[in-house]
Amino acid sequence: MKQFSLKCIVCGKDLPPENERGKHGEHIIPKVHGGCVAIKDVCNECNRYFGDNIDLLLLKDGRIIQAVGKLGIENLKRIILDNATITSKDTIDGHNVPMVYRNGDYQIKPQELNSEIIEMSEEKSKKYWEEKIKKRIKSGELPKESLKEFKDKEWPSYEQSRVNETFVSSIPDVAMRKRQVSKPIPEFDVSIEQSKRAVAKIAYEFAYVLTPEENMARIWNDLDVLRQIARYNKPIPEMMFVYQNIKKKYAFTHEIMMQYPKHMPSMVFMDIVFFGTVDYRIILRSNKGQLDPIRLPDTKQSVDMIGLAMEFYPNQPKRKYVGIHSVEDDRWTSYDFTGLI
Ligand SMILES: [Zn+2]
Repeated sequence: MKQFSLKCIVCGKDLPPENERGKHGEHIIPKVHGGCVAIKDVCNECNRYFGDNIDLLLLKDGRIIQAVGKLGIENLKRIILDNATITSKDTIDGHNVPMVYRNGDYQIKPQELNSEIIEMSEEKSKKYWEEKIKKRIKSGELPKESLKEFKDKEWPSYEQSRVNETFVSSIPDVAMRKRQVSKPIPEFDVSIEQSKRAVAKIAYEFAYVLTPEENMARIWNDLDVLRQIARYNKPIPEMMFVYQNIKKKYAFTHEIMMQYPKHMPSMVFMDIVFFGTVDYRIILRSNKGQLDPIRLPDTKQSVDMIGLAMEFYPNQPKRKYVGIHSVEDDRWTSYDFTGLI
């Protein structure tokens, strides 16, 4: 286990002394996902790059959006779903329909196709145009009777128009395209390949901080690949990321576990589970023989797994476990890593 690094562990730039580093640090699990463990070995520039470019990639992963939708953690749900990109295909003609998550459900997002044509449900367009026409009457742009005329004469023919048909009013710049009434099924922007970059960042930082010094050089080739995927968008090697998709019951919302399997002494497994649904094993291979076991800094006791887990409950503070996981009895023992992570 290590002291604070003198250089940024991502880009190698010199870092200021420990007491002059920003107070918040770089969150291993992004803050937006509820992460609460931060490290101070990442420079401000890399930290900002991750915050602006990498952490948000997970929000576009449909598996996460759906899992969060079911979790019942309102504040987290709001943050994630408000940032999510959700679209759908119109069931009549297949055009793209943007959707939003509101009031506990996915809804069609009202959309201005251009400044004159509005695409929304019948009910909503009625209100929308009423408001607009009222404003234009008020400003003197339209005569007073236009609203009544619009309601009495034009609205009935709009009502009779077919779904997706564009209706053009005799009032200039008033046109509507009727939207289907039945709700389409949401599709997500499932950029799984991109969301792996965020997973690579988490794995890299976690492994970097908790890998004993003597093992660093042995697994550096693979660790460096993770670093470059996260920071410089290097292509992701097939063999490195295994999507497990095991329908096991997860005990925690997030889990990161680093394991030195006894039967494969030159490998490190990093199991990363997000929102109990995105479930990767990242395999790091030693290219310089067997790895030394993970040892605790104080007792030198060797452990087979070391990890971080987080649990969320509706309307309750999140629980954090940084500790040692025992494979035998599947339990976490807490361990004080103060100063380490
Ligand atoms: Zn850096």
